[in-house]
Amino acid sequence: MKLSNLKKILLNLAFRKSLYRNELGKELKVSPSTLTYLLNKLSSLKLIEIKSSETISMGRPKQIISLNPEKWNIIGIRIGREFINSTLFNGIFDVKEKISIRLTSSDMGNKRIGELLKQNLEKISKVPVNAVGLAFSGKVSFDTVNSHILKLENFNPKEIVKSVFPDSTVTILNDVEAIATEEFVLHGGQKILVINYGTGIGACFYESHGIYQKSERKVIDLGHFYAGGNEKCYCGRTGCFETVASDYAVLKKYKYRNLDIVHFILHQEDFEKDLEEIRHMYKYYRRKAEILYEETLNHLSVFLGNIVRLLEPDKVVICGEGTSPWFTQSLQKKIYAVSGLTLGIVHRGLENNIEYGSALDALREHILFTDL
Ligand SMILES: [Zn+2]
Repeated sequence: MKLSNLKKILLNLAFRKSLYRNELGKELKVSPSTLTYLLNKLSSLKLIEIKSSETISMGRPKQIISLNPEKWNIIGIRIGREFINSTLFNGIFDVKEKISIRLTSSDMGNKRIGELLKQNLEKISKVPVNAVGLAFSGKVSFDTVNSHILKLENFNPKEIVKSVFPDSTVTILNDVEAIATEEFVLHGGQKILVINYGTGIGACFYESHGIYQKSERKVIDLGHFYAGGNEKCYCGRTGCFETVASDYAVLKKYKYRNLDIVHFILHQEDFEKDLEEIRHMYKYYRRKAEILYEETLNHLSVFLGNIVRLLEPDKVVICGEGTSPWFTQSLQKKIYAVSGLTLGIVHRGLENNIEYGSALDALREHILFTDL
């Protein structure tokens, strides 16, 4: 698909929030008069806003261009084991509204998640919404979601979103894909490997082809790679990575010898206090933390070392509620010890905004299919 210059401008503004007029001209490689024509057209459609900045260039204030905050409304939604969180953003990605619904184990399954998603959407102000991006802890193929954790089977959230916001563009992605999208937009990188570590483990390899083309995204179901042992996993297989290396595995070693992962996933909220304890233990009892996490870090370093050799990312990012700066540093050292790779791992912890990542994904799709 040949992308028009008008769409290219919108994509630049979506990804970079605002640009000086001359930056935009360089990016598009068009003459100043063509740029004026294009900007006037977008401005007359009220899609963009042109403001004078305080910087003076050639005796005139420089012009700064952004998407029109009033004209664009984008929603990013995160559906995880504990919450359904929605954020409404304007055209410059300021947060206009946030709605959160807490989930318990009885809320899992297509029917209940569907009802709660609808309730969540109905609480958002009725404004003309351009795009809605949903990120799930689960496997997404085309428009359907399957998730052991959320007990979703061929779940189709698009219909639900369309029933509340019929004119919106809807995209669905895995939560680690949303994190990788956000990482690319905010911090750059071409081949990014994101590992999301907590009670579950997910990964995504994001290969960018610039902002005009869809990036290649490969979700890696790391948590259910075979890692040995004989524990039956909630996914139905035996010996999954999560059974031997995850917050669950550490918790089991710490306090609950007879805990099994099926029970744990179902009743995660009962273990919140313990999870807090193990996650912060490195601050107070370093040696104890080292012993508790040893097996998990060993497993992770072997798998990560192999994945890095295979995919050759230029950036590895670790995030998720189970991580800490200590965790990341220890992992980095172990990877070096087992594979000789001197890997600089970026620790993001809980910085990531999954709703922002999914909203951006939906906005890009919307712009690509807009009639311009
Ligand atoms: Zn499994």
